[in-house]
Amino acid sequence: MRNNRRPAKSILPGRYVQNHIPRATHRQGVRRLVYNKATRNQDAAVMKQTKTCKVCHIPLRVGKDHLWGPDGTITLRGIHDRRMVFFDSDGLDVLFSNIESLLGISVEKILIESKARSAREYARRMLRGPKGQLARLVGLNRVVGRVLLQGRILGYGRAGVSGFSWREGYISVEIEDPYSLPLFCADFRGAAESVTRDPGTVTSEELGPGRYRVDVARGSSSPEFAGRLLPQPRARKPGDVTYNYCPRCGVPLEVSRFIWDLDRGTITHADSGLRMALFGPQGLEVFFNELEGELGDTIPETVIEAQRMYAESRMSLRSIGARAGDVRSWLAIRGLGNLVSLDITEELLEARIENPSLPLVIVGTSLSFYEFTFNRKGRMEWSLADDGDLRMRISPA
Ligand SMILES: [Zn+2]
Repeated sequence: MRNNRRPAKSILPGRYVQNHIPRATHRQGVRRLVYNKATRNQDAAVMKQTKTCKVCHIPLRVGKDHLWGPDGTITLRGIHDRRMVFFDSDGLDVLFSNIESLLGISVEKILIESKARSAREYARRMLRGPKGQLARLVGLNRVVGRVLLQGRILGYGRAGVSGFSWREGYISVEIEDPYSLPLFCADFRGAAESVTRDPGTVTSEELGPGRYRVDVARGSSSPEFAGRLLPQPRARKPGDVTYNYCPRCGVPLEVSRFIWDLDRGTITHADSGLRMALFGPQGLEVFFNELEGELGDTIPETVIEAQRMYAESRMSLRSIGARAGDVRSWLAIRGLGNLVSLDITEELLEARIENPSLPLVIVGTSLSFYEFTFNRKGRMEWSLADDGDLRMRISPA
């Protein structure tokens, strides 16, 4: 499925391909690590030690680090306000390129800046105190190597450090099947910046089908983004979503319908073949906000339309006749929020979701669901209340 997948068409077009890593990488005295068969075998050995749950066959790390809560959210255990989503990553690059084609401009810079900023803040938080000192002591390449292995459990693809010299000012990784190339580039840049405390620039180059080299080099920060604040996590409402938790690892058993391939670093939905990943939605929310700040208040509608276009291409007959319980569970398993009411009467759909994550994505998907179910265009009215609730009303257009 994903093996032969080409990168997103427009988000990182040819002009992005640069080879600016200095020839100095081959000079004497500069460490050059090759991400070759031997390193890959080493990684495979490490991943083998990653234990999977004997009951639900999901890596134990997933349940150890993540909590699916009754309020429709996924959070990091121990960092209650850090939300995650378990989301269809196949759709992300399509969403980005749909946004680009609707706007007629490239949004790659804003996307990478936004996600890198969020990734950097997150990594900084994780590396506070002695942990951070240790990370700086053992070296950027080893820290990044560890993070990349962890990323495989989250479905980010198989990656390893392939070249490193911070004295020369760069670190390179090779990745196969990234969950989203621009988001991976941004995550990598943010993580590297949090360790080096230097601003970086990131570039990528395609090495073969689905294989890329991504380089972070010491650079200067973009002044227009410097000093911008990240959104504060919102207070959440309690909820009563119930799951069948795995008795051994604590992950909802519904999640075991997804197949973890630790060697490739992929998570696939068994029925639909969709590729999934577990990641923090904050970077995307910052991206949508930055777009709106930059390009005006029609951006939310553009994002909704871009997601509606993507969701339309994924709708299947199984979606018809979905009951409120199915939709509620669908949202909660993905950490997108708690569906507290859903009324579908005649050709009217009304819904309220507490603790929504990526509301524009939910709205676009819902509109597509409506149009597929009723086989007609829908008119969407939606609002985000002060208490964070997302309300939607879809009627015939
Ligand atoms: Zn389990």
